[in-house]
Amino acid sequence: MTLDGSDRVGTAILVSCSYCEQPVIARVAGVVADHNLENGPPSLLQLVRCDRCGQGVLAVEEDYGFGWDGEPAVVWPKKVRSTTYPIPEALWREQDEAKRCFSAKAYTAAAVMVRRTLEGVCVEQGVRSGRDTLVTMLRKLKDQDKIDDRLLEWAQELRMLGNEGAHYTGRAVDPEDVADGLALADALLDYLYVYSAQFEKFQERRANRKKASEKTSPDASRAAPGDSAAPPSPEA
Ligand SMILES: [Zn+2]
Repeated sequence: MTLDGSDRVGTAILVSCSYCEQPVIARVAGVVADHNLENGPPSLLQLVRCDRCGQGVLAVEEDYGFGWDGEPAVVWPKKVRSTTYPIPEALWREQDEAKRCFSAKAYTAAAVMVRRTLEGVCVEQGVRSGRDTLVTMLRKLKDQDKIDDRLLEWAQELRMLGNEGAHYTGRAVDPEDVADGLALADALLDYLYVYSAQFEKFQERRANRKKASEKTSPDASRAAPGDSAAPPSPEA
């Protein structure tokens, strides 16, 4: 092993790929070795590419006096999801592909992908029946109180942006519109899968706590004026 780690370039190492969610073989594209002990133990930063999915990964190995430790720790990307991540994997993948298109400057493709994500949301939320159009499905989401007026308005704009991408118009799709579209699609996913779920948990926890305190102190219902033992009404 050379001191600058350059002999690693082109070789394969084993890293944990956050996209594949498993250890994968990855090719080393470049390295930076740091032997300045003021910065800590010698470190070898390695930019690698996952052989399986092609994702770039930055991994680091350290030397505690026995050479590079052979256990590259991934410093980027941070693990972006887990099995408990609330956004369904299929949707996450659609949205992720939209972002990949955007970073490759494939704006039209990104706009189409945003529309696909939107369509996926409707299917995942169970509002598709027969050959429903996206407009109909979005309206159903609203009618079933899964989204409010404002989100419906956003979703309709995303749908139109996607249509612009999907049909030949002879005009380029505006990258700024696509960037906004991606952010809105993220917000929609967060609203439906992250914050709505979090709010439900929050409510459930508070309801359980209230129940528990009523059990332990039978006088709790009389403790505060206006605080009744009856189930809380939506106005309370
Ligand atoms: Zn991978």
